[in-house]
Amino acid sequence: MSYPNSFYARTRTAGPDRPPMEGEHEAEVCIVGGGLAGLNTALALGQRGISVILLEARSVGFGASGRNGGFVGRGYSQELSTLVDRLGLDHARALYDLTGQATALVRRRIDDHAIACGPNTTGVLVATWTDKADDLHRYIDWMAQNFGTQQRFVPREQVAEEFAISPVYFDALYGDQTFQFHPLNYCLGIASAAEAAGVRIFEDSAVTAMETERPEKLVVTGRGQVRARHVVLTCGGYGLGVLPDVSGAVLPVATYVMATEPIPQDVLATAIRKKVCMADTRRAGDYYRALPDGRILWGGRMTARIAEPPRLACLMLDDLLTVYPQLRGHARVESAWTGTMSYARHRMPQIGRLRDGVWYGQAFGGSGMATTTVAGELLAEGISGQSDRYRLFEPFGLDWAGGPFGRIAAQAIYWTGQMQDAAAARRDRRARKASSAV
Ligand SMILES: Cc1cc2nc3c(=O)[nH]c(=O)nc-3n(C[C@H](O)[C@H](O)[C@H](O)COP(=O)(O)OP(=O)(O)OC[C@H]3O[C@@H](n4cnc5c(N)ncnc54)[C@H](O)[C@@H]3O)c2cc1C
Repeated sequence: MSYPNSFYARTRTAGPDRPPMEGEHEAEVCIVGGGLAGLNTALALGQRGISVILLEARSVGFGASGRNGGFVGRGYSQELSTLVDRLGLDHARALYDLTGQATALVRRRIDDHAIACGPNTTGVLVATWTDKADDLHRYIDWMAQNFGTQQRFVPREQVAEEFAISPVYFDALYGDQTFQFHPLNYCLGIASAAEAAGVRIFEDSAVTAMETERPEKLVVTGRGQVRARHVVLTCGGYGLGVLPDVSGAVLPVATYVMATEPIPQDVLATAIRKKVCMADTRRAGDYYRALPDGRILWGGRMTARIAEPPRLACLMLDDLLTVYPQLRGHARVESAWTGTMSYARHRMPQIGRLRDGVWYGQAFGGSGMATTTVAGELLAEGISGQSDRYRLFEPFGLDWAGGPFGRIAAQAIYWTGQMQDAAAARRDRRARKASSAV
């Protein structure tokens, strides 16, 4: 099995080594990519009695799905207000509801297949780095009114008493719908569940070519080939070039995670008081969680350049110490790693059918745990002829992502946003200091 050196890889549950595909095979559906988009589609098809072969270039969960922040929550990378403006409230609600159903399905699958991916602690705190109480109140009310959510406003004093003691935080909102899990163990659990439902999974089986124009599709790897009536492309940000119409529609964007060594509980409690998911409202903010053993899994940063930056562990530790300076000398990095997400220009998932028998599910951005589950269900329903709910995503097509120019533009937008966020945070911290000095 090949995985990057991550906390998740070191603590993964034991599973079978799956062989590469060799020789000639046939299936009703051939799925390319063994992240959660591919695995969920495979499980949903297998459960419908459809014969499936899934081909993964490395190991299942090798990509973003097995190395992410482990937050499972509702919503998309694109803001709901933008979806309402563009599609109207009913359509936006239908899309949002899908992610609610998906988080419930993830929980059900953990139970049904006894997947050891805990702790599955519930709750998310989203803090602000600026003095934005009015904006938060407005957002909470707007979400409750239009999407029926129940998030609560947490004033800054209570943020410190109940959740986290940080000099950079102002007020926050808290929601109890998001939960956390061990993403790689979840992937491995879904892979086993899919196999139990009859799916054949081959690892070390990178797809190098495809013929998709004829009714019978041909999918070729280094050592074998599959003939199938349907192919599904779920390669995330790792699959450049397999089918250019599909892979050219996503922008691979790198983001980073580190795991600290366990921090003694009394020291940790001077910083993090409640071990829920934590994030902030900046454009590329931090996302992190403390585990029961005192370890912090800390995620953040984004770059359009995929290569791992030098001194990644130091950069991530600096970010942590900016939020929790009291942990200096206590927080030590155990490992740090990069993951590649796939984004579309419209920042929504691309789920649908390119032409007869050619399907895709990609561009889940930074919120893929629920949305890849949505993709799995909708693609399986579409392929089996059970529904055409995948058409809810028709407004979000395979627009070309701009290749290298798209990457440069994305990096420029990120840096500009980052500078604006930092300036606003500095301004509001200075104002807070000045008013507390009076
Ligand atoms: C560091 C990080 C933190 C994140 N945190 C969160 C979070 O907390 N919560 C959340 O909801 N989302 C999070 N995300 C986003 C989420 O992980 C992704 O949106 C989701 O996992 C995408 O799944 P996928 O199946 O589309 O892609 P991937 O998981 O990347 O899977 C694609 C797979 O396709 C395989 N592949 C590629 N090309 C080929 C080929 N030619 N032949 C065969 N196989 C191929 C790859 O090897 C890979 O395994 C995070 C992402 C990253 C990188």
